[in-house]
Amino acid sequence: EAITVQELANRMAEKGADLVKALFKMGMMVTVNQTIDQDTAELLVEEFGHNINRVSESDVDIDTAEDVDAPETLQTRPPVVTIMGHVDHGKTSLLDALRGTDVVRGEAGGITQHIGAYQIKTKGGELITFLDTPGHEAFTEMRQRGANVTDIVILVVAGDDGLMPQTIEAINHTKAAGVPMIVAITKADKPEFTPQKIRERLLEHEIIVEAMSGDVQDVEVSAKTGAGLDQLIEKILLQAELMELKANPDRAADATVIEAKLDKGKGPLATVLINRGTLKVGDILVVGTHSGRVRAMLDDKGRQVKTAPPSLPVEVLGIGGVPMAGDTLTVVESEVRAREVAGYRQEKATAKRTTTAPATIENMFSALKAKTDVIEYPVVVRSDVQGSTEAIVNALNKLSNDEIKVKVLQSGVGAITESDVSLAAASGAPIIGFHVRPNAKARELIERQKVKMKYFDVIYHLTDEIAKEMAGIWGPER
Ligand code: GDP
Repeated sequence: EAITVQELANRMAEKGADLVKALFKMGMMVTVNQTIDQDTAELLVEEFGHNINRVSESDVDIDTAEDVDAPETLQTRPPVVTIMGHVDHGKTSLLDALRGTDVVRGEAGGITQHIGAYQIKTKGGELITFLDTPGHEAFTEMRQRGANVTDIVILVVAGDDGLMPQTIEAINHTKAAGVPMIVAITKADKPEFTPQKIRERLLEHEIIVEAMSGDVQDVEVSAKTGAGLDQLIEKILLQAELMELKANPDRAADATVIEAKLDKGKGPLATVLINRGTLKVGDILVVGTHSGRVRAMLDDKGRQVKTAPPSLPVEVLGIGGVPMAGDTLTVVESEVRAREVAGYRQEKATAKRTTTAPATIENMFSALKAKTDVIEYPVVVRSDVQGSTEAIVNALNKLSNDEIKVKVLQSGVGAITESDVSLAAASGAPIIGFHVRPNAKARELIERQKVKMKYFDVIYHLTDEIAKEMAGIWGPER
């Protein structure tokens, strides 16, 4: 149970800065955006003369993380795949071509329903789920909301073009998420197709593909002729096998909302991806701040299904409102319980004034406790000229030591972009701007996501500050 200093300050109606001061006296160097553990929070509350009124969240809300399935209940589940890459490099065409390989669709002549994700059955009978919204924006947005549904990323690069800005962003976002990647070099039917050039350029981003004796799988495909699709599918299945993706299908379901909308006739509709368990028609559920009961489920072929196992995307009818992408759907035992949880979450959502603590800062603290692993300090860097960017990245890397390591998630030249902000938010990283400012959209996002921004004009100020910050995280006893 961690809370940010600012959030605690809000709850106590005290100034964040006063809490930081008090913490400093207690020997902790933290900023208002950092999290502290429950014991420290209680000390602070006492220090400020407030009463501790600890209502255990799990008494009211559902904590799915706490209820872990026994190993013997786990069964192999299909992989969930997201396609990323630069605009016009052929993501949508590849998604359509892959959909076309579905043997079930061929047999039943099903009508394609665009519900945000689809599942195919391969010639060998294996199942693969694809998310239908290509690109890293949706991927990172989901991750910000704590929903890591993607098992494998397919990086699409047009073999007649090259690595483009969004290709590189996709690489950075995938790396930051720690999701394995398969490179699909597409448009293989074109005369200008030069895949070797792409493989070489990928080396600059530390992606060494199989064809270059590395361990990232790569494949040449054409969405137009269908060449290479079978190999791509094989590689996905191989990667999935290596990952040993498993879930317990015989329990009440947990699922993640992929997309949701309000339909005039049918009411709220949400496409969910089952994480574990089996969702059944008639199940009582809570999803985000809404409760409901599954009235019907439709798959991506427009067929009604009565039950949905792990990794199957289905459109659910019967939710009391429109949830948000990234929300978790949980099946509960009674309508009373569903309404209680949904009501509690609504109250909390209204009361909530700050964002939740960034995942990576939390990771740092838990790593701190163990004091064994190397802690990663993630940053996003932007400057006005390439030379400065390189100098900053080098200087930051030099700050790393055996215990804490600077990790530059993304670096670039020019104004701070939305992609920088979303990546920083998802990883709990600060953005470092050197002689540059965010563009209007990025600024708005920084406000909304409460991302930490630091501007500098002199490189050694920058390294001083980050070194101090790193020392603060590690704690004063060092
Ligand atoms: P997206 O923006 O990444 O989703 O790219 P699209 O799938 O919309 O494709 C962009 C353009 O490239 C379209 O005109 C497609 O017809 C074309 N395209 C995509 N894949 C292929 C391919 O394998 N071969 C050829 N010749 N053209 C392709």
